[in-house]
Amino acid sequence: MADYDYDLFVIGAGSGGVRAARVAAGFGARVGIAEERYLGGTCVNVGCVPKKLFVYGSHFAEDFDDARAYGWQAGAPDFHWPTLRDNKTREIERLNGIYRSLLDDAGVEVITERAILAGPRQVRVGKRTATTENILIATGSWPVVPPFPGNEHAITSNEAFYLDEFPERVLIIGGGYIAVEFAGIFAGLGASVTLTYRGELFLRGFDEGIRRFVTDEIRSKGVDVRFETRIESVERRGGDLRCRFRDGSSCVVDLVMVATGRAPASSGLGLEAAGVAVAEGGAIPVDRWHRTNIAHIYAIGDVIDRLQLTPVAIAEGMCIAHNLFNGESRVVDYERVPTAIFCQPNIGTVGPTEEEARRHHPNLVVYESSFKPMKHTLTGRGERTMMKLLVDGEDDRVLAAHMCGPEAGEIIQGLGVAITAGATKGDFDATIGIHPTAAEEFVTMREPVRRLGSP
Ligand code: NDP
Repeated sequence: MADYDYDLFVIGAGSGGVRAARVAAGFGARVGIAEERYLGGTCVNVGCVPKKLFVYGSHFAEDFDDARAYGWQAGAPDFHWPTLRDNKTREIERLNGIYRSLLDDAGVEVITERAILAGPRQVRVGKRTATTENILIATGSWPVVPPFPGNEHAITSNEAFYLDEFPERVLIIGGGYIAVEFAGIFAGLGASVTLTYRGELFLRGFDEGIRRFVTDEIRSKGVDVRFETRIESVERRGGDLRCRFRDGSSCVVDLVMVATGRAPASSGLGLEAAGVAVAEGGAIPVDRWHRTNIAHIYAIGDVIDRLQLTPVAIAEGMCIAHNLFNGESRVVDYERVPTAIFCQPNIGTVGPTEEEARRHHPNLVVYESSFKPMKHTLTGRGERTMMKLLVDGEDDRVLAAHMCGPEAGEIIQGLGVAITAGATKGDFDATIGIHPTAAEEFVTMREPVRRLGSP
């Protein structure tokens, strides 16, 4: 075996890179990992973790209100943004430290500098060029800001976590995960929020019934949701940001946030020097073992063209480590990846949408239910919950579960196990419900609302 400085060199210490490095080192590999920004990557620093803390924070407004119907009397609640922001930052710093110790304890060499490829088996970090048998690119992604006059006034989710002042009026541009999650956060914390999406209905790729349902729920919480609305320009006048849209409409806000996708962070990495191919848009193409076109160079996470989800990057990182250093041949199953959107109420989903399932399952059976959560029988809040099960009428297998309602992510995670294990609708029916919960509805839906392929 050639004598390299490392068995594996990982570029990027986000969720996927850190997992690959730790597990590889656990198998006895000599591993280096380079990170120029923050340990833990997007998820820990400017993504999933701080976002979820903000979602918790923003829900208290309704909780204070709802508490009255349960007999609680309290003074008018008052929200102090710096407290939430700074408590969140302290927690993120604690997690940064934990990531550092996890890597140190695993025996991974952590280099807090930018690394670039200098050849198929060479990486340059600062002034040093190291040799490595394998390279893993796990550099993640970065928010995209579309071109429009005045886009320099817009922030992205990166900055939203560190605002000096909490805005009174916010415009959010985009219709994906981040746009709807931040609409809920800003609205819950007391801002007046306008959300604009360029298409007919946001959350493209999710089940249409759920998308329509959540539109109504988000609107009922006071967010001004505008579809078929494209930004024309943003102009600063004093403290105001004057936003014009192509349909002639406009709004004046204190903060414009764009949430229009994240591009793979693949530029300036020396990929050309190593001969690594990059697709249009910046994603690094990989095969099912996450190998790039160059032998011994691998890529995982947001920088490849799969799913931009933390647990997926972690699964990919695990595969790389097990395959390279434990003689296995694991691949990631991208079918039925459960996911949640922490909009308010949450969306949780596993399996295909009804629209996709219709194309592949001519005997599709659809079960659906929508109801007022029990908690709101006293509060009078109009919020509703929706649940949906898709079943293959041919063999009774449950193909998908979709939900919009409180704790949808928590509920769908468990159903994800059942669906991955191949549970049938008969198995769901044979499962005794936990009463009173919302989740029990998933095992008590008896009458389909639609059957394809029946006369
Ligand atoms: P998404 O890809 O989810 O959504 C991007 C949105 O921006 C879409 O509505 C898209 O519209 C719209 N858009 C794209 N380009 C433009 C443009 N030029 N002008 C106007 N609108 C545009 O990206 P996000 O930024 O919301 O999130 C990035 C990724 O991060 C997600 O894909 C997700 O995987 C991950 N994420 C996961 C979370 C979770 O697991 N809870 C939370 C947050 C992020 P169209 O549909 O028409 O293309």
